[in-house]
Formats: sequence, structure tokens, C-alpha cells
Amino acid sequence: MAEVNPFASAQQEIKRAVSRLGLHPAVYEVLKQPLRELTVVIPVEMDDGTVRVFTGYRVQHNSALGPAKGGIRFHPDVTLEEVKALAMWMTFKCAVVGLPYGGGKGGVVCNPKELSPGELERLSRGYVRAVAEILGPEKDIPAPDVYTNPRIMAWMMDEFSRYKGYNEFGVITGKPLIVGGSAGRNEATARGCAIVVREAAKMLGIPLAGATVAVQGFGNAGSIVARLLHEMGCRIVAVVDSTGGACNTAGMDPVKLRDHKTKTGSVKGFPGSKPISSTELLTLDCDILVPAALENQITASVAGQVRAKIVAEAANGPTTPEGDRILNQKGIFVIPDILASAGGVTVSYFEWVQNNMGYYWTEEEVNRRLEEIMVRGFHEVVSMRKLGRDVDMRLAAYMVAVKRVAEAMEVRGWLGRAARMTAPRAEALPA
Ligand code: NAD
Repeated sequence: MAEVNPFASAQQEIKRAVSRLGLHPAVYEVLKQPLRELTVVIPVEMDDGTVRVFTGYRVQHNSALGPAKGGIRFHPDVTLEEVKALAMWMTFKCAVVGLPYGGGKGGVVCNPKELSPGELERLSRGYVRAVAEILGPEKDIPAPDVYTNPRIMAWMMDEFSRYKGYNEFGVITGKPLIVGGSAGRNEATARGCAIVVREAAKMLGIPLAGATVAVQGFGNAGSIVARLLHEMGCRIVAVVDSTGGACNTAGMDPVKLRDHKTKTGSVKGFPGSKPISSTELLTLDCDILVPAALENQITASVAGQVRAKIVAEAANGPTTPEGDRILNQKGIFVIPDILASAGGVTVSYFEWVQNNMGYYWTEEEVNRRLEEIMVRGFHEVVSMRKLGRDVDMRLAAYMVAVKRVAEAMEVRGWLGRAARMTAPRAEALPA
């Protein structure tokens, strides 16, 4: 399979949205690159007394709508190109659901599995000291991403608070509850995804009671989406994780599946199930397919065989551009990642709001507000899809997001007098 460059794919989506909306080319010129990229060197004392030098990045793609927002990834394969693409996606993920944020992302090239807890803490604190000048609740608010977690967020918040000389809980989200975390954050990505699936099913006339669901990935996002859809009446017929899969057309209980995975380390071997591979799951005859694992899973060859009616992208970038074209040609309803996985950053936004107010909401309050934002976001994208004369859902989501960012840039005077903005009108859109 040819390597797909996520940064180039994200640029293509923006270009299509700008042109479809009939916006001035200046919009694309500003959005095609991040506003700021910072590369830092982090010397860390290892447990044996030697010093190892790590490379870290923080990228702020755009801040027209508000401070940059986006996670920090600790992974051996982190590159500046990848962090730039992820920061760009964050701009549009925040904008599509109307959050007052721009997009950012960070990363450190390291393998956290090889670091002791002490080394991991010194690295986390060292990263924050290195990028502290460009962070802050009004500037750029990180969060967890791959291989970073609430504990690391607590160290990072603590280091930033030491740098400022007072507690600055609002500098980072995804923190433990005891130091300003939000109720509902852990389930938020999955809950947001389940909400948009429910809205899509309603619109397409697919009853959720008895609807068959296949979920790729059984971690934070996948296992909770499975549980929530099961609670809505769906039948979970297949799940896979990195070690194998379980399939039972009569349906499986996701809570028992979770217990089985906790006990055995895998979903495979779940009582009453048959084994299933990742590719078999993606091409299974089902109503709803939720990719919730990795990027580039629904490639051109897989897309040709997908039989689901709805594909809800809980993962970031699970479908390649070629795969996406094929899904659309087949009339499969795709809920794109920037919308389907926006629940996590939405509750991160709530965490930041609660930190800024110093007043904390109940889980019911958080879920009620998340519901409101996800439902509105979904229907705004559907309306744009109609306004754009049936563009696909991904392009429609980018159109909603790009339009918001472009309007903010225009009123702030970032685009110059030549770039007169016009709201998209159906008659202005190419057929
Ligand atoms: P996680 O590490 O908790 O779970 C990942 C799951 O994918 C695991 O069950 C793992 O076994 C499985 N997996 C890995 N490789 C696989 C393979 N080859 N085939 C099948 N399964 C495989 O991660 P997560 O937080 O659930 O994130 C999953 C996706 O959702 C990622 O793309 C992430 O960027 C995206 N996402 C997560 C959040 C969040 O808040 N957790 C927010 C937005 C987007």
C-alpha cells in the first residue's frame, strides 16, 4: 500500500472546501501551513545518571477562533510532519462543532514503554519547560494523545504552575479529577460518536433496535462506543483488537467483552464467539461500522468490500482518500473523523471552562451539553451537504469548519482587503 501523507491529505480537504465555498484563495494560503512550529531539545537525566537528549515539537496551526488546542503524543515514530497534520485536523475538528479554539498538537520522539516512571516524569516536565513560553490557558492548551495519560497531564500542569508561580489548571485538559479534570471526559469521544451514529440512523431510517454493529479497536474509544450503542439497542456482532477478534451474529455484551479483555488481555476467545480478522470485520455484513483503532484502515481495496450502511470514524484518519471516494460511490454514509471523534475535545473544552470558572459540573450536566453540541454539529454538516448540492459528508464537514475559521480570519483582518468574504449560497456553489 502506498504511504498516505496525512498532511497532504488534510491540505487537499481544505483546498476542496475553500473552492467549493467560493472563498478567496488567501484563505487557503493562510490555512495550508501552521502559524507556528516549535522544535525543542529536552535533556533528561536517566536513572543511571547519564543524560539522554529527546526531541519535542509543538505546532499551532491556527488561532483565529481561539487558543490552540490539541494533544501531546509520546511515540518513537513522531515526526514534525505528523504533528503538523494532527494540529491542522484539530483546527477543523474544533471548528466543525463550534468550539472557540484553534488547532494545535505536540509530540516527543521517545518510547515511553522503555522509560521508568521517574524518567517519564522528568521527560514530561522537561517538555513543558521547553515549550512553556507558548503555552497557557489563553494561548495553547494541550491534552493527552497516544501514550500520554491523565498522570502525565498532572505532571505537566504542575510544572507549568511552578513556572507561573500559581496553580494554572486551565493550561492542560485530560487531568485527573482531583486536580481539575472533568466528569465524563473518559467516555466523551465514544459518547460523541454514539450520538452522531444515532442521529445518522434516525435520518436514514435505520432503526437502532437490533441494528448490527462491528467495531475495530477495543480501547478507550471502541469499547465505550460498543457499550453505548448496545445500550441504545444495537447488536454488537463483531469486535477486534490488535491481538484478534470475536464475532457472534446473535450479539455480544460489550461489558462482558471488556471483562474478558481485562482478564485475558484480548477480545478473542470470548465465550460463544468465532474468531474474526480486522479485514473480515471491516467487510462484514452489518448496519454500522466503527473504525476505532488506527489510521489508513479502509484503503481502496477494503472500501470496495465494505457492506455497512453507516461508517462512523471514531479513530483519526481511518479511511484513505481513495477508500473514501469508493465508500461514497457505493452510497455508504460516512460520518467523518473530524465530526465523529469530536466528543473528546468538546469535553476537554468543558474541562477548561470549568477550570476558568473554578466551578465544576456533574456528569449529567457534562453529558447534556455534549449531546447538544454533537447534535447541532451533525445537523449543521448535513445542512451544508444539502446546500453544497450533495457533497459528501467529509467535504461538508470541512466546509462548515473552513467557513467558520475563514470568517474569523476575515473579521480579524488577516486576509487583506482583496479577500472579500461571501457566505456560501447554493447558487454560488458549482453544480
Ligand atoms: P486505545 O489505545 O485505547 O485503543 C486502541 C485500540 O485499537 C486497542 O484496542 C488496540 O488493541 C486496537 N488496535 C491497535 N492496532 C489494531 C489493529 N491493527 N487492528 C485492530 N485493532 C487494533 O486508543 P483510543 O484512545 O481508543 O484511540 C483509538 C482511535 O481513536 C485513535 O485513532 C485516536 O486518535 C482516536 N481518538 C481517540 C480519542 C480519545 O479521547 N481517546 C479522541 C479522538 C480520537
